[in-house]
Amino acid sequence: TATSRIPEKWVKTTCGYCSVGCGMLLGVRDHKAVAVRGNPDHPVNRGKLCPKGLSEHHILAAPGRAKQPLLRKNGVLTSVSWDEALDTMVERFRDIQKRHGNDSLGVVGTGQLLTEEFYTLGKLVQLGLRTRNHDGNTTLCMASAVSGYKLSFGSDGPPGSYADMESADVILLIGANIADNHPILCHRVDRGPGTKPRRLIVVDPRVTKTAMMADLHLPVKPRSDIALINGIAHILIREGLINYDYIEQHTNGFEEFANFVSAFTPTHVALITGLTETQITETALLYGRAKSAFIGWTMGVNHSTQGAVTVAAINNLALITGNIGRTGAAPFSITGQCNAMGTREAGFTSSLPGYRKFDNPQDREALARIWNIPVDRIPTARGLAYPDIIEAAVQGKIKALWFIATNPAVSFPNYKLLEQALRSVEFLVVQDGFHPTSTSEFAHLVLPAAIWGEKEGTYTNSERRISKANPAVPPPGEARPDFDIFLDIADRLGVKAELYPNWTSPHDAYQEWQRVSAGRMCDYSNFSWQQIDDANGLQWGGESLYRDGIFPTTDGRAILHNVPCDPFKEQPDAEFSFILNTGRTVEHWHTRTKTAEVDLLNNMVPNAWLEMNPLDAANLELKPHDRVTVRSRRGAVADLELRITGIVAPGQVFMPFHFAETNSNIVTLGDFDPISREPNFKQCAVRIERTPMR
Ligand code: SF4
Repeated sequence: TATSRIPEKWVKTTCGYCSVGCGMLLGVRDHKAVAVRGNPDHPVNRGKLCPKGLSEHHILAAPGRAKQPLLRKNGVLTSVSWDEALDTMVERFRDIQKRHGNDSLGVVGTGQLLTEEFYTLGKLVQLGLRTRNHDGNTTLCMASAVSGYKLSFGSDGPPGSYADMESADVILLIGANIADNHPILCHRVDRGPGTKPRRLIVVDPRVTKTAMMADLHLPVKPRSDIALINGIAHILIREGLINYDYIEQHTNGFEEFANFVSAFTPTHVALITGLTETQITETALLYGRAKSAFIGWTMGVNHSTQGAVTVAAINNLALITGNIGRTGAAPFSITGQCNAMGTREAGFTSSLPGYRKFDNPQDREALARIWNIPVDRIPTARGLAYPDIIEAAVQGKIKALWFIATNPAVSFPNYKLLEQALRSVEFLVVQDGFHPTSTSEFAHLVLPAAIWGEKEGTYTNSERRISKANPAVPPPGEARPDFDIFLDIADRLGVKAELYPNWTSPHDAYQEWQRVSAGRMCDYSNFSWQQIDDANGLQWGGESLYRDGIFPTTDGRAILHNVPCDPFKEQPDAEFSFILNTGRTVEHWHTRTKTAEVDLLNNMVPNAWLEMNPLDAANLELKPHDRVTVRSRRGAVADLELRITGIVAPGQVFMPFHFAETNSNIVTLGDFDPISREPNFKQCAVRIERTPMR
């Protein structure tokens, strides 16, 4: 009844979907979550929420929740006790590692866990299970931003804040459709009455909802963004719209850089990008003449085989104009998942905890002292990144896999290769809040986990703001918080007393993480859980990093990089004549593990679709709502509804990646950035056929 949905209490927490990190209040009645509303006092969202956030309470009691450990017996996933599940898992991992070496185990985490859980998991995997082959699914979305920051500044860490978007004179968004993917950030660029007038420029091959908000939309050809960025640098230098003092005092490599971009004349860049010389010049002049300019980007940049260096090219623009380390001025990666930042900082991906480097002896010694272990137990080099773990499984080098809160059978590029990996390993563990998922159906063991709303800890959002996530309801059935699962595994491995002395709750993990992060760039030591909760989130590093112009490189200076614009691998040809671009929609989250459980969202967007330009549709004699098949050299996705629209340019098609039934990753190319190892989800060659009538 309506009455039963009136909450008895509201629990303050943080949204568990995207990295915007909105503060919310979760309404509880009779130990059930019955409502959500935006926290009006939270500085990120000021009370607003997007459709996913507004319906997030529905996922907690959804029918698809995983409620019991399941072990495959005689080919069938069968309910077992937690003791049997974890005993079997540890026994199988030990046996496999004894036969094939410690690195024969691969562990893939997520950006969905709490920082306290990443920190605990990192120690468990590196020191307890002793495999170097661990990574986050964040390599599928943010690894290029991490690598690009390291190339330019010497360390990861987004330099700016959301507040910069409100202070900037010019906002340049490259490959960032925030209206669908980070909707609450749109309020920061919206120029309502009484707000500061500023220019919004959007670079995107599609006329996205964000492009529709722009003063200037630049519909670049796919993967020509590097040429545009270099072309802007060329005009800035030619017109003297650069900050010579900043370049002189805080950067290396300007002369070579100026020489390199001299070839990127507007005429040359227009040919590569498909833009007009006027559009290119106008953009450069707007950016260069702004007192403060902000560049934001997301997956349009990161999801590329040149993602890391594209980020470095963006950083070049900020550095030569001094648009960094000041209010309103920053290059800024808008992260994907709610706690992708936490997994980067707490040491589960490409760094040791606290952005420490594997190859830095002082970093390893400092960590060993805090952990009270011999330094030789800390790896001196990173193991395999996520895509390489999958490839090693296909090659028979990885024999056991443990996936935590991620669904690669929908999210990983080149599904056939992924399926081969899942089928190849001797033991596959899937730990998730939901079952079945496309991945858990392959598992030998399914561990049911508690999710957002059921456990306690912190998330860190895109602007480095740490917010508290609080439990409001108990997990269903026998599902348990990931933190408890990790400690139970450590106990069975005989390392609990050594790695987690007297730990009983995630708060113990947080207190140790505060000590580990103290004095580091991502310093949590001055923020207690209580202070974070009371303040509705606190930012490490303040609003802007690098205010003093000193960077964490060997000589304190940032590095300008010469970034060539390489063509992408699979160009369209006579057989596969379209370029496929994949992306998202505001109503769904990633592989729909959660949002498929929410009727409200499914009713709005129940199925995938394919967007095609009217000229191409006329050539192929296709009509609106025809059923079509997308085919590449790797496979085909059938029965998509055709949307004929000028949103996509001729020669390009677009489909959302969320839907398991029409999995776009059956057709995508398994091609990766050589530096970040991030996949190129955005460009592959396909052809479009009418789906035969059944
Ligand atoms: Fe949650 Fe992101 Fe929506 Fe905010 S914008 S409510 S964080 S999904």
